[in-house]
Amino acid sequence: MLIPFDNSYARLPDAFFTLIEPIPVSAPVMIRLNHDLVTELGIDVARLDSPEGLGILSGNQRADGSEPLAMAYSGHQFGGFSPQLGDGRAILLGEVVRHDGVRHDVQLKGSGRTPFSRDGDGRSALGPVLREYVVSEAMAALGVPTTRALAAVASGDNVVREGLMPGGVFTRVAQSHIRIGTFQWFASRRDHDNLKVLADYVIQRHYPDAQHDENPYLALLDGVIQRQAKLIAHWMQLGFIHGVMNTDNMTVSGETIDYGPCAFMDIYDPAKTFSSIDHQGRYAFANQAPIGHWNLTRFAETLLPLLDDDPKRSVAEAEVALGMFAEIHQTELQERFTAKIGIEGGDTGDWSMVESLLAAMADGEADFTLVFHHLSDALESGNDDDITPLFNRPAAIVAWLTVWRARLQDCDRSQAVALMRRTNPVFIPRNHRIEEAIRAGNGGDFAPFHRLNDVLQHPFTAQAEFTEYEAAPLPDEVVHATFCGT
Ligand code: AMP
Ligand code: MG
Repeated sequence: MLIPFDNSYARLPDAFFTLIEPIPVSAPVMIRLNHDLVTELGIDVARLDSPEGLGILSGNQRADGSEPLAMAYSGHQFGGFSPQLGDGRAILLGEVVRHDGVRHDVQLKGSGRTPFSRDGDGRSALGPVLREYVVSEAMAALGVPTTRALAAVASGDNVVREGLMPGGVFTRVAQSHIRIGTFQWFASRRDHDNLKVLADYVIQRHYPDAQHDENPYLALLDGVIQRQAKLIAHWMQLGFIHGVMNTDNMTVSGETIDYGPCAFMDIYDPAKTFSSIDHQGRYAFANQAPIGHWNLTRFAETLLPLLDDDPKRSVAEAEVALGMFAEIHQTELQERFTAKIGIEGGDTGDWSMVESLLAAMADGEADFTLVFHHLSDALESGNDDDITPLFNRPAAIVAWLTVWRARLQDCDRSQAVALMRRTNPVFIPRNHRIEEAIRAGNGGDFAPFHRLNDVLQHPFTAQAEFTEYEAAPLPDEVVHATFCGT
């Protein structure tokens, strides 16, 4: 087998999915194949980087061992419940078990209509394919749990969006594509038998230790809460705004999924949103933890029938578990942000210092990534000349720098600098660079896309040949809105 498929989801009851073949595209061309990830999955690069491989990764050819299917799921979108979502433009080809024993889904996105497509065409424009490739691989290199990009293919067909756009097919790899919305699919149908099948499957696949717990379903809930609370803190460390935290876009594995309208902030603004449809700021930067908690509450609700035979006790157990979210998240956030200013295991006083820095950045309209990156240089050199120009109103930062230097006076400076350098990236996938890569790609030039991917493979390392990718956008380069791929 070219891809060593070993499928388990296809063994679950029929209610979990619909078997469906990808619909071929006209003239597929490989744009980028992720050789490292191919190898990690135990696939031979030379064999996949071939006409046969292109056939598989465009949906034109059935791979041996593949059992293509569209997964069923529901979801709360912007707070409103949609009972019938599911893979409308994605098809799970099958699963591969990596050398370390971790099972991974291999999924095509943009591979044609399925029974879940509703009014959609089942396709993807090339732009969102390139965006997801760049951002998900950047997140992986930044150390954030995430779905991965295996391949980007140009389809040779046009799709109708804002006018005609070139189309693409994306191959996504994930520890699984099971979402909170997958649980909601069965819970909203009161199908408790299949809900239990799903929970047992998820425990076995993602939380094997929970099997030995006194109450495995409660341990599952605790596990998902823990991973998501930490994941959101990790996003915030990097200035990442997911943009569409619907319950169908939140995995139970704890991986970031769905890079539609996501963006990394340039100027720090806790109320920042990019998504063109997020009018209320529901998924704003600083609202991500409260929304994560809201989504996990929906998850807990689906598990109530499994937690205890006594409904009152189920609710009480779920409430205790959900009550842990804020503390887990805050502890993680504090550790990550105090590391950003060179302090390991910071206390609440150090957290206040972080908060006043963030307030100064918001007030001074300073670039989130540049400030933290240059702080490590400033600590090393003792010179603040690169910091203050990043702020429109520098008074607050000048005062803050004095307090910060005093705090670090007795610390090992080289250790603090090293901590900052592995916490504060030099390179993030800036919106204007992504847009530049997409514009060129839509015109058939993938050089900027490749260059952007290359630099982002080592986000914490200064790379002299790529310095232009460090810079914040010029005023006329600033991207104000992002769009879902739909
Ligand atoms: P998303 O915005 O990617 O989270 O998608 C939300 C839902 O809309 C999912 O059920 C998708 O499968 C479906 N969807 C999004 N775009 C399309 C499309 N072009 N064709 C069919 N279904 C789509
Ligand atoms: Mg989605």
